[in-house]
Amino acid sequence: MSYIISDACISCGACEPECPVGSIKEEAGKYVIDAETCLDCGACQGVCPVEAPQPE
Ligand code: SF4
Ligand code: SF4
Repeated sequence: MSYIISDACISCGACEPECPVGSIKEEAGKYVIDAETCLDCGACQGVCPVEAPQPE
């Protein structure tokens, strides 16, 4: 299980420093979650202004 950032993402970057395991990275202007390391904690969704991170 992991979270996935949907197309609703506005690339604000707020979620990246909130992830306790560094799973969120910016790639070519888009933010993505590494499914291999994501702990499914939901912290990223909690700080996202548009609730783009959603459970898979
Ligand atoms: Fe990181 Fe938690 Fe979001 Fe997974 S759910 S990307 S572990 S903040
Ligand atoms: Fe995208 Fe939300 Fe993360 Fe901002 S906090 S980069 S809108 S997923």
